Amino acid sequence: MRSLQGEIEQRGRRIFELVDKHPESLLSKAGFYQRLMTLSMRDEQLKLQLFRFVDVLPSLRTSGEIVEHLQEYFADAHDSRKLSEFLRAGIRLARIVPWISGPILRWNVSEMAHQFIAGRNPNDVMRTLRKRRTQKIGFTVDLLGEAVVSETEADEYAARYLDLLEGLAHETKNWTDPLGKNSELFPVVNLSVKISALYSQINPADPADAIVHLTPKLRPLLRRARELGAFINFDMESYAHKNSTLELFKTVFTEEEFKDWPHAGIVIQAYLRDSETDLRDLIEWGRARGTRFAVRLVKGAYWDYETTKSRQNGWDCPVYLQKPESDANFEALTRSLLENESVVTAAFGSHNVRSIAHAQAFADELGIDRSRFEFQLLYGMAGPIKRALVDMGYRVREYSPVGELLPGMSYLVRRLLENTSNEGFLRAKFSENVSAEDLLRDPCEILRPSRNGVLPPSTATINMTTTIPKTQLGAPYENAPLTNFALPENQGKMRTALREQRNQFGRKVPLTINGEKIWTDTMFSSVNPSQPDQIVGYAAEAGIPEAERAIAAARGAFEKWRRTSFEQRCQLLERAAEILERRRFELSALEVFEVGKPWAQADGDIAEAIDFCTFYARQMRRMRRPRLTQNVPGEESYQHYWPRGVALVIAPWNFPMAILCGMVSAALVTGNTVIMKPSEQSVIIGAMLMEIYEEAGVPPGVLNFLNGKGSVIGAHMVDHKDVDLIAFTGSREVGLRIWESAGKTREGQRELKRVICEMGGKNAMIVDSDADLDEAIVDSIYSAFGFQGQKCSALSRLIVLEENYDRVVERLLAAAASLRVGNPEEPGIAVGPVIDEAAYRRILEYIEVGKSEATLAYQAKKVPPHGYFIPPTIFTGVSPSKRIACEEIFGPVLSVLKVRNLDEAIEVANGTDYALTGGFFSRSPANIERVKAQLEAGNVYINRPCTGAIVGRHPFGGFKMSGSGTKAGGEDYLLNFLVPRVVTENVTRHGLAPEKTPEYRDEFLWPKA
Ligand SMILES: Cc1cc2nc3c(=O)[nH]c(=O)nc-3n(C[C@H](O)[C@H](O)[C@H](O)COP(=O)(O)OP(=O)(O)OC[C@H]3O[C@@H](n4cnc5c(N)ncnc54)[C@H](O)[C@@H]3O)c2cc1C
Repeated sequence: MRSLQGEIEQRGRRIFELVDKHPESLLSKAGFYQRLMTLSMRDEQLKLQLFRFVDVLPSLRTSGEIVEHLQEYFADAHDSRKLSEFLRAGIRLARIVPWISGPILRWNVSEMAHQFIAGRNPNDVMRTLRKRRTQKIGFTVDLLGEAVVSETEADEYAARYLDLLEGLAHETKNWTDPLGKNSELFPVVNLSVKISALYSQINPADPADAIVHLTPKLRPLLRRARELGAFINFDMESYAHKNSTLELFKTVFTEEEFKDWPHAGIVIQAYLRDSETDLRDLIEWGRARGTRFAVRLVKGAYWDYETTKSRQNGWDCPVYLQKPESDANFEALTRSLLENESVVTAAFGSHNVRSIAHAQAFADELGIDRSRFEFQLLYGMAGPIKRALVDMGYRVREYSPVGELLPGMSYLVRRLLENTSNEGFLRAKFSENVSAEDLLRDPCEILRPSRNGVLPPSTATINMTTTIPKTQLGAPYENAPLTNFALPENQGKMRTALREQRNQFGRKVPLTINGEKIWTDTMFSSVNPSQPDQIVGYAAEAGIPEAERAIAAARGAFEKWRRTSFEQRCQLLERAAEILERRRFELSALEVFEVGKPWAQADGDIAEAIDFCTFYARQMRRMRRPRLTQNVPGEESYQHYWPRGVALVIAPWNFPMAILCGMVSAALVTGNTVIMKPSEQSVIIGAMLMEIYEEAGVPPGVLNFLNGKGSVIGAHMVDHKDVDLIAFTGSREVGLRIWESAGKTREGQRELKRVICEMGGKNAMIVDSDADLDEAIVDSIYSAFGFQGQKCSALSRLIVLEENYDRVVERLLAAAASLRVGNPEEPGIAVGPVIDEAAYRRILEYIEVGKSEATLAYQAKKVPPHGYFIPPTIFTGVSPSKRIACEEIFGPVLSVLKVRNLDEAIEVANGTDYALTGGFFSRSPANIERVKAQLEAGNVYINRPCTGAIVGRHPFGGFKMSGSGTKAGGEDYLLNFLVPRVVTENVTRHGLAPEKTPEYRDEFLWPKA
C-alpha cells in the first residue's frame, strides 16, 4: 500500500498534468495586468507604489488628476532607472496627452479589477455564473464593499444581500447539481457574508454586543435563504473579528428557528494559531446541535495586515510566520474535518496543489466519496486548477465577488498581494516554474528540525512580551503593549477589575508629605461622571499650611536626592513601571469610573504611563555622563547636567495617570524633588501613583502628594520662592497665568523658574479630494469623539475640499449617528460622559453658540438621562472666524468647514492661536509633502487619527498657544528638568598636552554611577 505522501504526490502530479494541458500563465490576462505583476515581482518598493496608485485611481475624477498622480507616484518619487520602458513611456505619454492617457489608465485598472470581480451587479454576475455552469463549476457570491462606516451603510448592505439572494434564486431555479450526487449537502445558491459589513460598531472587546445587533439583521436573510433552499456562509475577516464571528455563528444557528438547518457554513483560517482549538470547539458544538454544518478551510487573506498590526501594538502575533507552518496546519485541519465528516461538510479553499492533493488523498484513505466535499477557488485565479479538479470528478465552487471597483478596492489589493507574494503557491508554480517535486513537498518535512535538533526560527520566538520592556542602552526601545481586548481572557480580567473597583467605592486617600500620611479636616469627593451619585473616593484636601510643608519637605530632600546615583533613580522608575503593569487592569478600571474613559482608552493611559517610566529611565542613562564637547589638544571641556531643584507638577484629569506619571517621572529621574498635584477630578488615580512610587521605594520628601484647589494651593506654590520648576499640563487660561506668574522673581528666590507648559489645541484635519473616505470618516470620528473629545489632541475642525464635501458630510453624519454613547463600563461604548457638571454646562453653551453661528447638522438624540452625557454634535458650514472654529471646546463637538482648494485648507488650518495636532487625508504624494511642510502643528498625522501619540514614537507637544515647545516622550524632554553645566580644564603644562582625551569623565558625578 502506498503511503499518504505517495498518494499526495501521485494526485498532485495528475493535477499538474491536467493543468499543463491547458497552459495559462498566472498573469492570465495579457497587457497591463501582466506588466503590472511582472514589475511588482521585480521590485518591492515599486510594487508598493504601483499598488498605491491602483488604490487611488478609481477615486480620481479627471484625466488631469490621474496624470498628476501618475507622475507623483513614479516620475519624481522613484528611482526612474528602475522603471521599465513600459512605465516610462506611459508617463511621458501621459504628460503629452493627459485627456487620452487618463481614461486609458482608468480603463486598464478597471479591466484588471474585473479579472477578480465577477460582475458589477447581480445581473452582470449571472453571465459569469452561467458560463461556469457549463464548465461544471458552482458559485458562492460575495458582495464587495465591506468597509461600512455607519448603520445606514450596513442596512443598505443587508438589503442588497437580500436582493442578491432573491435574484440568484430566481435565475438559477432550474439548475441542478453538477455531480448529481449528495446534492442535498450543496445547494446551488451559495452566499458568502461578511459580518463587519452588517454592523458598523463591532468592537472586538464586546462580542455580545455584536451578536445582539447582528442577529436581527441576519435572521431575515437566513429565513429567506432557507425558504429558497440556499446556503449561507460566514466569511472570516481579521483576527479582531474572529471570536465575534464564531460566537455569532454558534448563537444564531442554535436558535430554534435555525437549529435543524444544515445549510450554514463558516470559515476557519489555518494561518491562525488558534484555529485548531476553534475547529475542535465548532465540531463539538455541531455534534451537540445535532445538525450538519459546513466549514470552508482556508489559510487566510489578512496575513500582511495581522503581522503589521500585531507588531505595531506589541501583541503576540496571531498568525504563523513561516509559510510551511500554515501549510502544515491546513493539512492537520483537513484531517480533522474529514475525520468528522459525519457532522461537518468540508470545503477546501485553496489554490495550492499540495494542499488540494492532500485533501483528496486523505479523503480516499477514509473512504469518503468525492461528492461529499468540495474545493473552492477564487474567481479570476487558478483557472487551470479548477478545470483539472472538474476533470478529476471533484466538486468545484468559485468564490465570485460582485460590486463596483471603488468599494472593491481592498479586495483587489488583497488579490494583487496574494498573486505577487514571495511565499505564494501561484507565483511559484505559474510565474517561477518551481518543480512539481518541490511544490508537492510535505510542509512538515520543511519544518522538521535540522540535524542539530534546532527548529527553524518560528513565530513562537518572535512573540511580544507583556512584561516591562528592557530600558538598557543598546537594546531598541520597546513600548508596553496595549491590552488586546479581542482576547476573552483580557475581557474577563477587565470585568473582574471593574467589579473589584466598584467594591472600593468611597475609599479615602490622605495627603503624603515627607513620607507621612496626612488627613485634613476637609475631604474632597471624586465622583463617577457616568453616575454622579456614585462617589469613587474621598481625598484629604490640602490648604496653604500643607503646601508650605510639602515645599519644605521637597526642599529638604533635594540635596540627598540630587546626589543619589543616576542608576538608582532609573531603577526607581523601572520598579514603578513594573508595579503599574502588575496593577494594570485595576488602574484601568478605576479610570473608567473616575474619569469615564472607555476600556481601551483607559488601558492606553496606563500603558503610556509605563512607557514614560521606561523611556525616561533609558534617556537618563544616555545623558547621565559628562561628555567631551570638542576634542582640542591641551584642553578638556565636559558638559553635564544638574537637577534644577523643587519641581511642582500640576496635571490634568484627561490622561489622569499618563500625564501625571510622565511629568513626575521626568522630574524624579533627573534628580529633582517633586510635589505632585493631580487634578481634583482624578485625585484617586493620583493617589494610586503615589502608592506605586512608595512601593517602588521613593525616599520620604522626594515625592509629595498634595490634593487641593488649583486656585488656592496651585497658585500659592507657583509663586513660591522655593519652587524652581513647574511642569504643567492643562487649560490655556491656567497655563498662561502660570507662565506670567512664574516670570516674576520673588524675594529670596534662588533660581529663575523654569515652566514646562502644555496647553490646548483647536486641531484640524484636512480631507483632500482624493482621500480614502472609508479611512477618513472612521479616523475623523474616532479623533473627534474618542473619549468624548476631551483630549488636547482631539479633532475639532474637519476641513474638507469642496469636491468631496457633500459625500464626506453625508457619511460623517451617518457614522456619528451610529456611535454607541453610554456608560463606558460596557466594553463597546465609544462615547462616554464628560468629566463634570462644569464641563457639561460649558459644552452645552458652546453648542448653543454653534447653533447661532452655523448649521447644526447632527446631534445624537439618545444619551443616558443621568450623568454628564453630551450628545456627539456636528456643525457644518462653519466659517473659520466663528467662535466654534476658534475656541477650544474640549467636548464631543465637531465643526466641518468647506474650502475650495488645498491652499485655502492650509490657511484655515493654520489660522488659529493653537498648534498642537493636525492631520491630512490624501493619496497625493505631492500634497502630502506640502502639508508635512506647512501645517502648523507640533504633531502632524497623515492618513491616520490625530490622537493616540505613543511615547518615543510620537514625542508629543505643540507650540503657539498650545505649549512651550516641549515634547513629552521625546529624546530631549528631560533637558527641561535640568541645568546644563560645562567644566573646562587647561591640561597643558609648558606646552605638553596629553595625547588622548577621554570622551566621558565621571569625576563630576557624585556618587559615581
Ligand atoms: C474560495 C475561497 C474563499 C476564501 N475565503 C476566505 C475568508 O473568508 N477569509 C480569509 O481570511 N481567507 C479566505 N480565503 C483565503 C485567501 O483569500 C487566500 O486565497 C488563501 O489564503 C491562499 O492560500 P492558498 O492555499 O491558495 O495559497 P498558498 O500560496 O499555499 O498560501 C498562501 C497563504 O499562506 C499564508 N502565508 C503567506 N505567507 C506566510 C508566512 N510567512 N507564514 C505563514 N503563513 C503565510 C497566507 O494565508 C497566504 O494567503 C479564501 C480562499 C478561497 C480560495
